[in-house]
Amino acid sequence: MKTKNIFKRSLLASLVGLTCVVNLAMAQTATSNQLVLESMAMDKKADPCKDFFQYSNGEWLKANPIPADRARYSAYDEVTERNLAALKQIAEAAAKGEGKSRSAQLVGAFYASGMNEALIEKEGAKPLEPQLAKINVIKDSQQLLTVIAGLHKQGVMPLFNFAVDQDAKNTTRYIPQIMQGGLGLPDRDYYLKNDAKTKDIRIKYQTYVTHIFGLLGDAPDQAKRNAAVVMALETRLAKASLTKVELRDPQASYHLTDLSALQKSDKKTDWAAYFNALGLAQPGQFNLAHPKFIAEAGRMVQSVSLDQWKIYLRMQLANANARDLSADFVNAKFDFYGKTLAGTKELQPRWKRVLSTIDNMAGEAMGELYVAKFFGPEAKAGVLEMVGNIKLAMRDSISKLEWMSDTTKQQAYKKLDTLIVKIGYPDTWRDYSSLQIDTGSYAANIARASEFEFKRNLTKLGKPIDRNEWGMTPQTVNAYYNPTMNEMVFPAGILQPPLYHVNADPAANYGNTGATIGHELTHAFDDEGRQYDAEGNLKSWWTKPDEKRFLLRVKAIEKQFDEFNPIDKLHINGKLTAGENIADLGGMKIALQALHKSLEHKPQAKEIDGLTVDQRFFVANAQSFRSLVRDEMLRMSLATDPHSPDKYRVIAPLANMPEFSDAFQCKGERSPLRPTATRVNIW
Ligand SMILES: [Zn+2]
Repeated sequence: MKTKNIFKRSLLASLVGLTCVVNLAMAQTATSNQLVLESMAMDKKADPCKDFFQYSNGEWLKANPIPADRARYSAYDEVTERNLAALKQIAEAAAKGEGKSRSAQLVGAFYASGMNEALIEKEGAKPLEPQLAKINVIKDSQQLLTVIAGLHKQGVMPLFNFAVDQDAKNTTRYIPQIMQGGLGLPDRDYYLKNDAKTKDIRIKYQTYVTHIFGLLGDAPDQAKRNAAVVMALETRLAKASLTKVELRDPQASYHLTDLSALQKSDKKTDWAAYFNALGLAQPGQFNLAHPKFIAEAGRMVQSVSLDQWKIYLRMQLANANARDLSADFVNAKFDFYGKTLAGTKELQPRWKRVLSTIDNMAGEAMGELYVAKFFGPEAKAGVLEMVGNIKLAMRDSISKLEWMSDTTKQQAYKKLDTLIVKIGYPDTWRDYSSLQIDTGSYAANIARASEFEFKRNLTKLGKPIDRNEWGMTPQTVNAYYNPTMNEMVFPAGILQPPLYHVNADPAANYGNTGATIGHELTHAFDDEGRQYDAEGNLKSWWTKPDEKRFLLRVKAIEKQFDEFNPIDKLHINGKLTAGENIADLGGMKIALQALHKSLEHKPQAKEIDGLTVDQRFFVANAQSFRSLVRDEMLRMSLATDPHSPDKYRVIAPLANMPEFSDAFQCKGERSPLRPTATRVNIW
């Protein structure tokens, strides 16, 4: 199940369903054809066979402490910081009235309102008042559902998540999707696990919730009691939620139904009132992604008192808005989500937070300005050529697979042939003409932008699929594969040094961006992506024996990662990270093959900086994953992130690739290569 279109205003809102390169969320430097790697970043005293992450990144790791306002610092964050500086220039110029385009006006006004600290402080909690008033007068369960729908329309998602998205089994149409949600902590497990660290986080979460109720005007005792109510309610929702591993099975999140069937299964809850209030009196067929969860939500609507619901909704509303309100809210939210959960030392400066809000709310308007200034056609051409070569290498690799039958191979080729590639930015920009943004209240701008986005999403119903739509903004330093569109997307933001260099040494580009392209392409064939066919439909195209042989290989990858123990007694969850690990291994292998093929008729210098072509490829790959992470962030990632920690994304694939040991002449004892029995080769 992909839930990329859930529009949720929380710190942890992320592109959960798109399988991307990194977790979370400029001019090309002129380079000669000789540019290689950042050899200054390497620790050449380290043994590449023993610790390739240190060998490739040692000096960089030493020279780059994590900035105080970050929970981790990686090659991607380097680019993100540079992008933020560029976007700041753009937004400041737009705020001064430079640039007459609609996008410049929108970004300028939005930015100016976000930087107007005096007005934001003066407003305090006032922007929440209209919604709080609606919550306060709820008289029955029907009104409760109406108010919940009203909050959903504002991008606040209490009780469950709602979005319109492609029907996973009929990808030519959009349908409404109702999914589990409604929690304040990052995952259900935070409510249910009983180790000391998780218990401590729960205590601190309650302190945060208490703090927020205080800011909403409740007396200390009342605020504390309210926090207990929120905790009890969310714990009940958590118990009914699927785990992150269970959510990786797309069939587990697909249950087509309609209103009369839902009403029949839950006679007491007035679901029609919810849909009516959304403006969707006739929702038609929809995906009740998590029926057991929604059944529990229905039981709760009946059994939890209205007073308790009001407490929960007030918290949901305040939490979703806290990062954009006055400093008391912002600091309270940062203290829990930034410091406690992620280990970040300092709040980001206001300008960065405002840019991230604009990116979230009206990101393509900013993208239009960004691309005009910072993205040239050269990068697009270079990446397209790599994509072509990598697709060919993938095809070649499939043709040679011993474990897959010809019947399944034919279907795999079909999927590869129909796969769409998007690079840089959308062909047509999102139309924001009906969105009113002015230099007045920041909170009012955000509220209107949220409504605009909800409406944009809702009005997709009944329309043809928008193949032009992008799930990330052009300035995003990331990439994704979307299974129901069968497309991979590389925003302009990721196509910059140190991740991509126009005209650079091909070995470096293939090791870095090439492996990223291979990674996204492999997502079409990982344990999740392989369940979707060439048209993006969730429909098996595998013969049973092929499927069995594939799953055996997935199990072997899971086992490899289960063994890694990055911190405390916490291990990587092999099942949670399987898709990304398969993509990392496959991506690196096919990128290397594509590099070799692309160099067949192009003579290369044998060595640059004392490194051969293959050595440079591997070092570039390891450098793309260079990163430092705070302990708290690492613990949270191990619980919630489908990507393995960066170091393991480098060293684990190498242990399955004889090509690496050959390249660095790691022989015998020195070789990190696994014995044949535990080595995995999927794609
Ligand atoms: Zn990925």
